[in-house]
Amino acid sequence: MDNNYDIIIIGSGLSGLACAYTLSKEGYKVCVLEKNKQIGGCLQTFVRDKCIFDVGVHYIGGLSEGQSLNQYFKYFGIMDKLKVQQMDLDAFDIISFDDDPKEYKMAQGHERFVDSLSQQFPEESQAIKTYSQMLQDICDKFPLYHLEIDKTYPDTFNHLGLNARDTINSITKNKKLQAVLGGNNLLYGGDGDITPFHLHAMVLNGYIESSWRCVDGGSQIARLLVKNIRKHGGEIHKRKEVDQFVFSGSEIKAVRLTTGEEINCKKVISSAHPYQLRRFVGGQKGHLRKAYMNRIEKIKATPSVFSAHYILKPDTVKYINSNYYHSKSEDVWNIVNDNKKNWPTAYLALTPRTSKSAIYADSFAAMTYMTIEETEQWGDSFNTVGNESPRGNSYEDFKAEKAELMLKELYKRFPQLKGNIMSVHTSSPLSFRDYIGSPTGSLYGFERDYQDPMRSALAVQTRIPNLSLTGQNINVHGILGVTVSGILTCLNFIDRKKLLTDIVSAS
Ligand SMILES: Cc1cc2nc3c(=O)[nH]c(=O)nc-3n(C[C@H](O)[C@H](O)[C@H](O)COP(=O)(O)OP(=O)(O)OC[C@H]3O[C@@H](n4cnc5c(N)ncnc54)[C@H](O)[C@@H]3O)c2cc1C
Repeated sequence: MDNNYDIIIIGSGLSGLACAYTLSKEGYKVCVLEKNKQIGGCLQTFVRDKCIFDVGVHYIGGLSEGQSLNQYFKYFGIMDKLKVQQMDLDAFDIISFDDDPKEYKMAQGHERFVDSLSQQFPEESQAIKTYSQMLQDICDKFPLYHLEIDKTYPDTFNHLGLNARDTINSITKNKKLQAVLGGNNLLYGGDGDITPFHLHAMVLNGYIESSWRCVDGGSQIARLLVKNIRKHGGEIHKRKEVDQFVFSGSEIKAVRLTTGEEINCKKVISSAHPYQLRRFVGGQKGHLRKAYMNRIEKIKATPSVFSAHYILKPDTVKYINSNYYHSKSEDVWNIVNDNKKNWPTAYLALTPRTSKSAIYADSFAAMTYMTIEETEQWGDSFNTVGNESPRGNSYEDFKAEKAELMLKELYKRFPQLKGNIMSVHTSSPLSFRDYIGSPTGSLYGFERDYQDPMRSALAVQTRIPNLSLTGQNINVHGILGVTVSGILTCLNFIDRKKLLTDIVSAS
């Protein structure tokens, strides 16, 4: 490893890798420092009993030819190498409720989406059309979402002040349709009183455009990107945890690792949770305002999650090319609170797609919200490299009990699982806290509040002249969201028109 870089990037999640690719392609000498033994952040996969599990990528939106993520991935030189499978055109997501045997299907392509939902809600055809158009209109207000080079941001930002639940409820009075349209809000940590409509729109629109599953997990995205970053001379180093910035005057001149090693650089991009800035700056006064740090620490995080991965007996349970979002009630905007009494009030269930078989699944995954407070008693223990089960039996028992509760719910919708589970592997908010480095193990970074959009908005450029930020806390979360975030950060270094032209013309 060298000791002098143009740009050090903290974190090898997708946003960090997007920056590393783009900047190394432009000739910058780039080095990515990742604290984990695996690259990718939320793109990491893990293997248990020979089955591959995803940490944070269950499906990807907008990956068809002509759609935004496809074009970004072409620019990264990875599109043609990805092993992906398009999900069921008639049902990428299936929404269901207790006491209702029906399964409500969301289809891919806006036209098909409208036609299909209109068949399921014949009286609501106009409302569904209006909803689909509203999603598209809102997304059009974000120029990088559709890679529109000459388009600028609109003059007013009134669209940021719309609430997701209320906007949906204003489009239709049909309670079931309202619940269906908000039924997959686990995708963005939906909270009825807070979540903005534009967040709902940007996430949903991508999946309605097209939905894809990674075959053998999402870590392939990181692996392919790393290869291409290295081709441009960029470096990626694992097990290198950044601890502090070393300053010369007002600028960072080096980063110090937890090992004490110092690496010199001209500029730094951090994709680590902004909460870590206090640690990076340490007691060195004057670099970041107290009010800025206090604000960061007060921004509420999206909830965390409990995931269970059930390993299946071979050739027993069929692969399902759709995701299931199930809620016990139609009150889909209050799941985090309801979960406290009636866990799990809602879940996402799916079968990962592996190259072993297109017919049978080798595992079944389910996730629901869990707050870090529920794991408080083990809060002082840390999963670190080389010490990966530090929390003892009581923690394992807690997780096993939760996995059993989840399974009881799953059996109601998926009786085919009965008798076919060989083992179960789980993760809790503490796993996400330790692996990703967010203080509460939050799923999608900062919570966005429609009433105060600026409260959670952090600028890419910080007060430290050579420190920029990137990632899901700075922009929208998700694979498309953090790709855009990475590119936005690179606009601090590269002319906008040139970079966007390069992206749009990549083939
Ligand atoms: C359970 C779950 C399911 C999800 N499902 C989907 C999905 O189906 N589809 C979708 O599009 N999105 C999904 N997401 C969201 C998506 O995965 C994330 O929004 C995105 O990958 C975040 O990328 P990032 O680069 O911002 O951050 P991260 O991926 O969190 O990367 C940050 C990196 O920084 C490293 N780091 C932190 N601190 C330090 C330090 N001090 N020194 C060095 N390195 C450090 C971390 O180890 C990590 O690797 C899911 C997320 C979760 C958690």
